Order: sequence, then C-alpha cells, then structure tokens
Amino acid sequence: MKIKILGAHNCETREYGHTCFVIDDILAVDAGSLTSNLSMEEQNHLQALILSHRHYDHIRDVTALSTNFYHSGTSIDLYTSLDVVDTLAKHFFTSGIYRDLTGEPLGNPTLRMHIVEPFQTYNIAGYEITPVPVNHFGITNGFKIVSAEGKQIFYTSDTGPGLGECWKISSPEVLIIEVTEDNASGEGTEKPGHLTPNLLKQELVSFKEINGFLPDIVTVHINPRMEEDIKIELSAVADELNCRIAPGYEGMEIII
Ligand SMILES: [Zn+2]
Ligand SMILES: [Zn+2]
Repeated sequence: MKIKILGAHNCETREYGHTCFVIDDILAVDAGSLTSNLSMEEQNHLQALILSHRHYDHIRDVTALSTNFYHSGTSIDLYTSLDVVDTLAKHFFTSGIYRDLTGEPLGNPTLRMHIVEPFQTYNIAGYEITPVPVNHFGITNGFKIVSAEGKQIFYTSDTGPGLGECWKISSPEVLIIEVTEDNASGEGTEKPGHLTPNLLKQELVSFKEINGFLPDIVTVHINPRMEEDIKIELSAVADELNCRIAPGYEGMEIII
C-alpha cells in the first residue's frame, strides 16, 4: 500500500495544502487540496473518493475534480455520509455556482454518490473501508482502510479526544491522525474538536491498552503557525511512549 500525502495542514498556501491523501493512486481520502496536487492523468486514474465530514477544508475540490472527470467523459464514485451528501447538494450543486454532476450526463452521471453508515464495511475500489464516528463537529467519520493484501491504516480525520471505539475495531500498521494545535493553545478548551500533542498522547495510551502495541504515527491537519512547537512536543511524546511519530508534509510517501 502506498499512501501519498497531498495536504497535511489546516489551511492552504503555496507551501501548504488542506489535509488529504491518495492510496495506491486510485483512492482519494478527503478533497481539500486534491486537484491542485494531481495532474489530469493522476486525477483520471482515481476510482473513488471518500469524504470524512462537511467542512470546507475537506470537501472543496469535489467540484473541480468532478468537472475534470466530466470533461474527460468518465465517472468517479464518491462515498460519504448523508450529511455531506446533503451539504454538497445544498451549497455546491443546487446553488447555481457549479453544475450538478450527480445528475449529468443523464443516465450516466459523472459523480456517483454513495451514502455510507458508521460501522458498516464497504468494498470501495478494492479496499475494505469502515467509517467510524469521531469527536468533531457534527457528523464526522474516521476510516479504517484495509487493502486486498491485508495492509491496514486508520485515518481519524478531524477529531477531539475519546477515540476508544476506533481502537476497538482497528489495529492499523499506520495511524494517520490529526494534531492541529500546540499544547498551550489547546489547554483549557472544554470540549476540544481537535488534538494537541498532549491529547494525542492520551489517545495513544488508550490505543496501546486496547491493541497491545503502537503503530507508526503520521500527524496531519497541522496549523502551520504552531508547527515548530508541535514538532518539539510530538518528539517528546514519541520519546515518552517509545514510538515513531512523523509530522506529515505535502508530498510525503508512506509505503507499508
Ligand atoms: Zn473539520
Ligand atoms: Zn479540517
């Protein structure tokens, strides 16, 4: 399994991209900075896209991607929650800004929408994928992703603490998890919707209690303004728990 990180941050500039990645060049996970980081050929090679939640930094390029597929005369499958399907319909497709490619061309739409439910496992582009609710705004799903060869990763998407249910159903070789803020910025937040290095540490302790080991960890959704402090704090967590934590970056490739 090859994972290519296209965006590893919570904002976009020339240097940074919204969090999203591609598996084996065929499965895209979230769509905040997809089209700006893939050639036409690479986009057309994609078979499916899965979206974790409705926030703009995770759905933005659905429209540009589907427009490119439309002009190529091909289709792509999009799997996500009913909440995201409704959000796209309301704000993107029926707003008069973009064409509704979920209905065009007639009889063979460019964007084939599929609603997924938590804790159900779906075969998507040859991978077994299980959405698992995480603790973020509204309805947000993390994804357990297993390849045909049995390689497994887990992507948390945006989340606050309390991921025990995710660890109960997954034992990934690589955990792609968000760490948005540094410890000082996250302190005193009553109900955090994101993680800090300290909050990550708690989640990893819980992971190890349930699974008996720690996977390789890649952090994403990083706030660039806090990145240097986050890296120092992550390094301390890795030393303390004796595990490998790699801050994600644009262009990073992970092979498992
Ligand atoms: Zn979010
Ligand atoms: Zn986000």
